[in-house]
Amino acid sequence: MMKAIRFMAPETIEYSEVPMPKCSDSEILAKISYAGFCATDIELLTGEMIHIKNGNTRYPIIPGHEWSGTVVQVGKNVRNFKVGDRVTSDVSLGCGECEECRRGHYNLCPNREVVGSYRNRQGVFAQYVAIPQRHVYKIPDGLSMEEAALAEPAATAMYAVSKARIPAGAEVLVIGDGPIGQLAAQLAGIAGASKVIMAGSWDEKLAIARSCGITETINYHKEDTVQRARDLTDGGPEIVIETSGNNAALDNAVQALKPTGRIVAVSWYNGPEVAVAMNTLIVKDAELIGSLASPNSFTPVLRYMAAGKLKVRPLITHVRPLAEMEDVIRMIREKKEMRIKVLLKP
Ligand SMILES: [Zn+2]
Ligand SMILES: [Zn+2]
Repeated sequence: MMKAIRFMAPETIEYSEVPMPKCSDSEILAKISYAGFCATDIELLTGEMIHIKNGNTRYPIIPGHEWSGTVVQVGKNVRNFKVGDRVTSDVSLGCGECEECRRGHYNLCPNREVVGSYRNRQGVFAQYVAIPQRHVYKIPDGLSMEEAALAEPAATAMYAVSKARIPAGAEVLVIGDGPIGQLAAQLAGIAGASKVIMAGSWDEKLAIARSCGITETINYHKEDTVQRARDLTDGGPEIVIETSGNNAALDNAVQALKPTGRIVAVSWYNGPEVAVAMNTLIVKDAELIGSLASPNSFTPVLRYMAAGKLKVRPLITHVRPLAEMEDVIRMIREKKEMRIKVLLKP
């Protein structure tokens, strides 16, 4: 048996003993060191998540999908990992056989499971997790377990930044000062931007971004994002990465964008339909690109982190015991305390 958090029904959290996950022949079993709390975990708790609504995820569920840990058991077909390896994993677990998986798009695999949500694949708010070997990554030497627990949001940001195809020397606007925004802003710099501007709502979070090398910041409660972004760039940012999921922010992105630019949206908007100023995009001869999850992006971000290029330590604002989940959720909902990434320790 192991200790785990389970969401039993909307707004019902239980911390109790549950059976250990089974480790199949092609899986590794890992003891979890740290698990990151993510906004989607709240959607799972409230029942607003699309997978809950359409019946693909059911209560009770062990949530959580961002983690680091140590291999404690390997299935008999596992070749590349051994007991004692420090590891993390993908969130989208593809079947490995279908057309999408074979093209590397395992985030779109029709047979996929998603750690801690889709099809009730067990999540990481627990002491142990089992993951198929093809979705497991070794944590480089010298990178701490705390930092490695941010590999998933970093990989999500990396995938969005790679979809932006940032031209050398481009001016980039990132909207949102949460974990994805912070990581995307740093990765845009690594990808060759000459200037990265972050628009966010918390002065303290924007200060953390500046301490991580983001040149300019805009507090959108105090300043006009579109005007400031234009003032700070040569006729508008060539690339906008929208991480806030706010409909007004998406409109700001369209308005601020330099003609022929690209917007990458890496968030979930309050639907069912989101208004976009399509004619403005057309007049600007511009691109609007969606980005889903983090396929093929763990290896580069783990390397960037280990090399000290991608700074994740300043983004870890809280480390709390897993048993204190209810307190953590209360703190997150109150929005009084500054928070970027909360790690839970089983
Ligand atoms: Zn996440
Ligand atoms: Zn597949």
